[in-house]
Amino acid sequence: CGIVGYVGSPQKTSGTHGAQDVVLEGLRRLEYRGYDSAGIALVAQDAVHMRKKSGKLSNLIAEIEDAPLPASLTGIGHTRWATHGGPTDVNAHPHLADNGHLALIHNGIIENFSELKAALVKEGVHFTSQTDTEVAAALLGSIYRGAGAGDLTRSMQLTAQRLEGAFTLLAVHRDHPGVVVAARRNSPLVLGLGDGENFLGSDVSGFIDFTRRAVELGQDQIVTITPEAHSITDFNGNPAEGKEFHVDWDA
Ligand code: GLU
Repeated sequence: CGIVGYVGSPQKTSGTHGAQDVVLEGLRRLEYRGYDSAGIALVAQDAVHMRKKSGKLSNLIAEIEDAPLPASLTGIGHTRWATHGGPTDVNAHPHLADNGHLALIHNGIIENFSELKAALVKEGVHFTSQTDTEVAAALLGSIYRGAGAGDLTRSMQLTAQRLEGAFTLLAVHRDHPGVVVAARRNSPLVLGLGDGENFLGSDVSGFIDFTRRAVELGQDQIVTITPEAHSITDFNGNPAEGKEFHVDWDA
């Protein structure tokens, strides 16, 4: 339902707790959309660290207070409106793949998830949730270890080619600190441009506290952000462009 992504640099990072502050603030801004669960994944210290919880954002924040997350400059966050699988902690996003090294969040519905799931089960993938989203995570993990050859952007392109339906996907990987990769089809995604930091949101509310420079992504595009740069392609890897605009409404 609501999606936030962030990459910062040691020199310039919004919020005292880095990615955690930025992502939680973005999720708070996106609460107006309605949701039943919330979750966050950060990349730090050679690992992906995840917390997720059904219910209000305050439940997730209480969970993080009980089990604090490490300082991080790379993070993604999600508020879920359940379509496939009930609103439980396990079904909340992010979903993990590649032995817990990869985390993925998703808005929308993957229409062909059951065929893909059956094929992945045959490959030996074990699923823990009832969601369509975990199938996209597992497919990305499998492609990352196969045809994607450890290239997260390329792997997201190849994954997006295989998915039908409506999706905004964001992923982070332990081996790529400082990188968030996203895909969109039939579901909104906006890039926020910072100075030494960059943002992604399902709408500008996800980063309005930090930057007013935004880029609307087009249909069937992939975007990769780092603290200093962003790149946009189509699902085949051909360079593409978004449409830059200034957010001038008062938050
Ligand atoms: N279809 C996904 C799920 O049920 C994503 C729902 C959403 O857009 O929040 O988990």
